[in-house]
Amino acid sequence: MTATKSLEDLFVHLLKDVYYAEKQILKALPKMAKKADSDQLRQAFEHHLKETEGQVQRLEQVFELCGLKPAGKTCPGIKGIIEEGQESIKDAKDPDVLDAGMIADAQAVEHYEIARYGTMIAWANQLGMTDAAHLLQETLDQEYNADRLLTELAEGQLNRQAA
Ligand code: ZN
Ligand code: FE
Ligand code: FE
Ligand code: FE
Repeated sequence: MTATKSLEDLFVHLLKDVYYAEKQILKALPKMAKKADSDQLRQAFEHHLKETEGQVQRLEQVFELCGLKPAGKTCPGIKGIIEEGQESIKDAKDPDVLDAGMIADAQAVEHYEIARYGTMIAWANQLGMTDAAHLLQETLDQEYNADRLLTELAEGQLNRQAA
């Protein structure tokens, strides 16, 4: 990052970054749903897949508000998180362990998104882009909910194992 970059440049960079990230997540979620052992976890992934489709559309609206065509830019961050997740569950044989691993990986994705959307909303407000901020806030709320649901599923799983 150089000092000559404007906040708007940074915002657009993050917009492209998160657009790429959501598209990667769109590809990862059906695979995770397929692998999930518990019905609740599978449903959670399927539900968030639907939400993610809407999130992509919202980002396209934000591009439009910026007068830009939607375009992603490779985000090594999300790529790494997704790759690491696929790697970590590769050899899991026990279905509970597989689910626990996928929950952990999915939460890493949600936390990444929460960090990104939080920053983008702050910057959109600073740039006077109120409509964009509202669109991004709708998505951030979904990411928080997804994260909370994953925590509940993880706790439920641990409690079952303890019982
Ligand atoms: Zn980037
Ligand atoms: Fe998302
Ligand atoms: Fe990134
Ligand atoms: Fe998400």
